[in-house]
Amino acid sequence: MPPIRTSKPPTEPAEEPTCRECRQTAHVLGIKIDRVKKGDLVAHERLCQGLDPTGKPLGLPTACLAPGCEITADGALAWVHHYRRVHTISISLEFTLKQLRLRYQKDLLPDFDMNAGWGSHLTKQSPFFASLEIQKLHNESSNPWSFTPKHKDVLQKFRSSFREFFGATPLSFHQHVSDISPILVARVITFLEENSVEPVSGKITASQRKAPQFAAFEGQFGAYYGPLAHGGSNNESHRIGPTPIILSLDLASNKEKLKTKFKSLVKAGYIAVIMEVVRQTDGHILSQLQWEAICQCCQSTGLYLIVDESLTAIRCGAPFGHQLPQFCNYKPSFVFFGKALSPGLGIFWDGVRIDRFEVGERADVLALWDFLPSLVQEPAATLRSWGTIVLAQREDWPKRAKNVGRILRDVLREMYPGVDLRGEAALIYIPTTVSRIADVIGAATPTYCRWMPYLDLGMMEERQVRAMFGTQSHSLRQTLKVTLGRMNKFCIICSEEAADSFDFCERCCGHICSVCKGEDGSSFQRHSEGRYLA
Ligand SMILES: [Zn+2]
Ligand SMILES: [Zn+2]
Ligand SMILES: [Zn+2]
Ligand SMILES: [Zn+2]
Repeated sequence: MPPIRTSKPPTEPAEEPTCRECRQTAHVLGIKIDRVKKGDLVAHERLCQGLDPTGKPLGLPTACLAPGCEITADGALAWVHHYRRVHTISISLEFTLKQLRLRYQKDLLPDFDMNAGWGSHLTKQSPFFASLEIQKLHNESSNPWSFTPKHKDVLQKFRSSFREFFGATPLSFHQHVSDISPILVARVITFLEENSVEPVSGKITASQRKAPQFAAFEGQFGAYYGPLAHGGSNNESHRIGPTPIILSLDLASNKEKLKTKFKSLVKAGYIAVIMEVVRQTDGHILSQLQWEAICQCCQSTGLYLIVDESLTAIRCGAPFGHQLPQFCNYKPSFVFFGKALSPGLGIFWDGVRIDRFEVGERADVLALWDFLPSLVQEPAATLRSWGTIVLAQREDWPKRAKNVGRILRDVLREMYPGVDLRGEAALIYIPTTVSRIADVIGAATPTYCRWMPYLDLGMMEERQVRAMFGTQSHSLRQTLKVTLGRMNKFCIICSEEAADSFDFCERCCGHICSVCKGEDGSSFQRHSEGRYLA
């Protein structure tokens, strides 16, 4: 029997005290021996960020982790005092930098909520804390009266940040993307015609001016009212007003037929056609040939082109989905944006048919345009949108979307070999039959469930993401329940938000709606019999 070691092996007496996180000696860290005894090294250790992947020590955080706290401090003890005094947190062996991060930076955690407010949230960070400037303006905007003189300046900064990142200029702002009317688009075009330095040919026709309408390609985003109430098959019974023109995407595979169709639409008063590069009902991706045919036919027939980017922006691995490499030969006339970017209409100055206008100084034209609407946008909406862009640019969210999408798709393919995954990057379409047993909250559509994960750091770590799936994920899910403090009330089986009662499954930490509970199928049995997460 080998001897049982009851004490630590003797260490070299001359060994210098060293941080266990970054492995630097007290000497290198600038902590004198007498201060080591007084606890300076222990304090350092509890706040130390460890090593980066290349083995370089990361030191201590340079700014306070609490949102809105502008303090920067030097040295571990200064931080210990700061957290105790200002935030009433004592840094201890049990409450180190790691716990501090979890408390303040929920974006470091993974999450099995892939509904994210129907895609409204790209992050758990607050966009109002994206920069000190935005944070300050947000505080000031709590009094709308005193904020009025600054509002125009904010709008200008937001627009230039938007243009720098997306290439388009936001023109008008809305409560919801479905509020954008064909009349508004016709107004923008007549405005550009009136203000063009050079006379333009092919002005909008009398019927486009009198009763403008939108046409749309099939399978589009299913709004319940407004000109966007086209696509969702479940919407027919809710639809009010004339039946919209819905075009089959197959039409775009035959350029001559498409051209003839567009000509007849222009004649009938249609001002623009709306499309998406990832079809919202089933995640089908437009082909390059179809995209180019649509752009060319719009250009030659007088129909303007709108790309709805409400869900595809950033998530698809490019600022806008239509900026993915295969679509780069053309730009649309307009984009709809929404969700995390407060909803609005953007214009591409060099887009289809807009490139004919010669408007001189764009800033002057915009000032003139802003004069037309009575209120451009609420400051909070502008600041939210601006903050989101600042974060997206600083942290390269399009790249993150590609990574997060790849990790989740890899996990799903391993768990369900041969699964038909659609969509692009972090806009994932998964067959409903699979999503019902994947124990993840998605955003329901009839045959495919959409997964719209947060693009936070917590979703970038493959090991963490994998730990959310399968039988081992119980403990991580419990931790998330406690740390995040709220669980999305969408059914973990059908991904529907139901108004009636829910059961909470303690094992997978998901809600189960009464419809799914009442069903004969095996989806609910998995949870009731503990065969969850497998
Ligand atoms: Zn250290
Ligand atoms: Zn602080
Ligand atoms: Zn359900
Ligand atoms: Zn369960």
